[in-house]
Amino acid sequence: MGAAFGSDLSFRTSRLRCGSVNSLFRRYAGGIVGVHSRLAGFRDLSPGERRAIAAKSAGLDPGALDVLDPAAGLTLDQADHMIENVVGVLGVPVGVATNFSVNGSDVLVPMATEEPSVVAAASNAARIARIHGGFATTCSAPIMQAQVQVLGAADPHAARLRLLEARGELAELANTQDPRLVEFGGGVRDITVRLVPSGEDVYVVLHLVVDVRDAMGANAVNTMAEAVATRVGEIAGGRTLLRILTNKADLRLARARAVFDAEALGGSRVVRDIVHAAALAEADPYRAATHNKGIMNGVTAVVLATGNDTRAVEAGAHSHAIAPDGRYTSLSHFERDAEGNLSGSLELPMPVGLVGGATKVHPVARAAVRLLGVRTASELAGIVAAVGLAQNLAALRALATEGIQRGHMSLHARNVAVTAGASPEEIPTVVARMLTAKAVRADRAEQILAELRAGAGAAEGD
Ligand code: NAD
Repeated sequence: MGAAFGSDLSFRTSRLRCGSVNSLFRRYAGGIVGVHSRLAGFRDLSPGERRAIAAKSAGLDPGALDVLDPAAGLTLDQADHMIENVVGVLGVPVGVATNFSVNGSDVLVPMATEEPSVVAAASNAARIARIHGGFATTCSAPIMQAQVQVLGAADPHAARLRLLEARGELAELANTQDPRLVEFGGGVRDITVRLVPSGEDVYVVLHLVVDVRDAMGANAVNTMAEAVATRVGEIAGGRTLLRILTNKADLRLARARAVFDAEALGGSRVVRDIVHAAALAEADPYRAATHNKGIMNGVTAVVLATGNDTRAVEAGAHSHAIAPDGRYTSLSHFERDAEGNLSGSLELPMPVGLVGGATKVHPVARAAVRLLGVRTASELAGIVAAVGLAQNLAALRALATEGIQRGHMSLHARNVAVTAGASPEEIPTVVARMLTAKAVRADRAEQILAELRAGAGAAEGD
């Protein structure tokens, strides 16, 4: 039996406070007393100044984030080694969300997103959460599962038990595929077997339950599943077909909660209306899809910035949003607490890693991880969950008060102005006139530009 197999099922009761190691490390490493995420005037600086301030505030060299300059970043050569048929790289804006306090430590959060308002909204919600201590996060152990499908077993019920009897042998076989993972304290923790009836057959589906430590774990568990498949087929008395991880990573959960101050939110009426807004998402799949998309605005931005697999996290989140009765529902909950403040909580699968995939290869991802200061995948997972909750609260607050468009529109107007061909000097005037006229549209931007240029031409002719 493999060394890591002895702690059978220990992950089920494991509750890690996702940021504790991080905060201790920071407190004692190199005389750094702590990160400061309250950065007054940050938004008024240039991108270069913001990089230097963010780096300094996170206890890094002022140039530690310079790789985020588009002139540095991912080279074509590096990209050519990452995927196939490379022709170029895509620039996505990376912003830094401020004000976050997670498990008592400040943290500056890199977010890669093309959507306006996301970074500002997260920072704003984090500012409100700070009043009552910021975000508290916990994570389950980093457990991923791989499935091995068996077809045509004559006696599926007995096959299931035969496989469970062989769990020691199968676990050892799987663990020998990844001695490094076992060395780092990971490896197979359990083996389960499910019978899945379908129109074609009753499939015997074996799950390898694997602690993947600081990896996202897809390659790690896929390799193990392929290695045990032949033996699984022999024991079950059938033919094996699929051997791959499940993205329903429901044993690898990250949780975040925070109390949002009623007064800072706009009063008890706003709290009540946010609770109603969240209740609609719990009850109605049409609303839940948008509600969860709002959570993913924050989650995906951090996952992308750190070079992690956005599709894996999204697949995990949406599969977790299915209630026991089969309804698609919201991932978060909002309640009025005993003091009348808003208590928000979020739990979702978080298969993110710090080794493997693009996390170690992409220079921007490496800088993003440095800025976060996380030492383990679980710490990263907790911060991502906190950002998801912040993003969710910000959207609900806007929806329950002035509506989502006001905040969106001024930033959206910039994009419309640029698309219409406005120069950097013309953008502020075009934006201001579109907002005053409450007409943020391409045709309006073009009309304003034409008027501006005609006016400038006339002035030059004078
Ligand atoms: P990986 O295989 O590149 O790296 C993981 C390996 O790193 C481990 O197996 C271990 O040997 C080693 N390692 C070193 N230090 C470690 C530590 N501290 N903790 C854990 N392992 C350590 O990467 P991975 O995480 O297994 O796979 C992630 C990649 O797989 C991503 O790029 C993802 O996009 C891709 N992928 C995803 C899917 C899916 O989600 N359906 C399917 C296939 C591949």
